[in-house]
Amino acid sequence: MGNQPMFILSDDSQRSRGQDAQTSNIEAGKAVAESVRTTLGPKGMDKMLVSDSGDVVITNDGATILQEMDIEHPAAQMIVEVAETQEAEVGDGTTTASVLAGQLLAKAEDLLEDDVHPTVIVEGYNEASRLATEAIEETAIDAEVDDDLLEQVAETSMTGKGTGGVAPERLAETVVEAIRSVEADDGIRRNDVRVRTQVGASATATELVEGVIVDEEPVREDMPTSVEDATIGVFDVEFDIREANVDAEYDIADIDQLNAAIDAEEGELASYAETLSEAGVDVAIVTDSIADRAASYLAEEGILAFESVSDDDATAIARATGASKVGSLEDLGDDDFGHADNVGVEGFGEDDLLFVEGGDAAESVTVFVRGGTEHLIDELERAIDDALDVVTASIETGGGVPGAGATEIAIASHIRDRTASIEGRRQLAVEAYADAVDVLPRTLASNLGMDPIDGLVQLRSEHDSEDRAGVIAEGQTGTVGDPMEYGVLDPAAVKREAIESATEAATMIARIDDVISAD
Ligand code: ADP
Ligand code: MG
Repeated sequence: MGNQPMFILSDDSQRSRGQDAQTSNIEAGKAVAESVRTTLGPKGMDKMLVSDSGDVVITNDGATILQEMDIEHPAAQMIVEVAETQEAEVGDGTTTASVLAGQLLAKAEDLLEDDVHPTVIVEGYNEASRLATEAIEETAIDAEVDDDLLEQVAETSMTGKGTGGVAPERLAETVVEAIRSVEADDGIRRNDVRVRTQVGASATATELVEGVIVDEEPVREDMPTSVEDATIGVFDVEFDIREANVDAEYDIADIDQLNAAIDAEEGELASYAETLSEAGVDVAIVTDSIADRAASYLAEEGILAFESVSDDDATAIARATGASKVGSLEDLGDDDFGHADNVGVEGFGEDDLLFVEGGDAAESVTVFVRGGTEHLIDELERAIDDALDVVTASIETGGGVPGAGATEIAIASHIRDRTASIEGRRQLAVEAYADAVDVLPRTLASNLGMDPIDGLVQLRSEHDSEDRAGVIAEGQTGTVGDPMEYGVLDPAAVKREAIESATEAATMIARIDDVISAD
């Protein structure tokens, strides 16, 4: 190779190292976390996001905000990933996790300025995060995970989200009922709870449907729109003349041969309805197309049929009703079909919805969300999704912890109690972690219109005298009290995951001291 320089970077790539790289990463991470800070808690503000194409999302949901923002900086992107992981793992606590990650970065910056080595910061943060998890276990509420507790957890997760005037306790009841109906011996079949939105009615019309709702209209208007005690077939079959026939060239010598050919095709189109009717099928869910003539024979047989049903919807109906997806109409057996007490098509404005309800279909449930506008209904859907997730998390991984900042106060205090026994500079990092956790109660207090410092001081002193204390939303402001008395509790799993993912992102970003970017 001689003296040829070897280029591993293209000409226009940029490189920054050491303090510079760290500072710019940390600044970017902090900025992203800052952008969702004001949405934390029950009185958090909503954000309105407008995309390039002009779509508008109004939301209070941390994960949604970060998803919609067009974030390119790699370190900032890591904070977005914190929110995404949090959303995927437990479904709530996204703002908490990203605000914490941002604050951990801010504290790391101070430590770096004081010449604490990144490795020491990482060690200290990891140690503190272990202590935090310990504190969460200690704070966990020692009570049976019953419907009351679950409803409180559900309601807590929805406070602050626009629920369009529906009483949160009613939504919480619906959510708990939904999860309870898919609880099996081997866990919660979370995927069997679906959320379906439909504009046009007030949000108070939101209800739980025992079954599946899909957005489909019958292939013909003269089909029945309601079938009781229905036998349902789900078909991956094209209801048409088979290709071979279509392509065949008839050598038509006389009119008889022409008629015979037409009869053969007609017979085939009629055969679908005959086969289904003989098999006792009342409702046909078809993922492929249905030819017009085939559809009219189906209608004559009184069969309610749907064509080009999406795979998702067909699978949902099959799962719920106990049908198997059938790929051929030969050898149909009774166990291929599913059953439901009621299958009905209802019109909602321009849309037709298919309800498959009751009987076997009740294996799945659908939260049927109503609301006056798209924006309202979207936010309501996000709130319900969060609530479904937190109820699932509470049942599956051990209950709740007091909300409203009380658990965070307990975490910070537990960490501080242990710092004295930690040697060297690592102690500084552990202490810094505790200070970072304080951002959560501080932000909650400030978003409730309280003085954040006074709030924090009060919470600490209550905690020191062994009282559980959080900042509770009350009227136009906040008050310090026992969150349990106000029914404010979060799943332990949400706090655990927030600690874990925020720590991971912050330590990863703090460790980077060389950034090579091609642009
Ligand atoms: P996240 O995305 O982190 O879930 P939220 O905006 O949903 O953010 O706020 C969650 C925080 O709000 C939790 O700490 C929770 O305990 C707290 N919280 C919920 N309801 C209340 C309430 N009524 N009073 C005070 N804090 C509450
Ligand atoms: Mg939340």
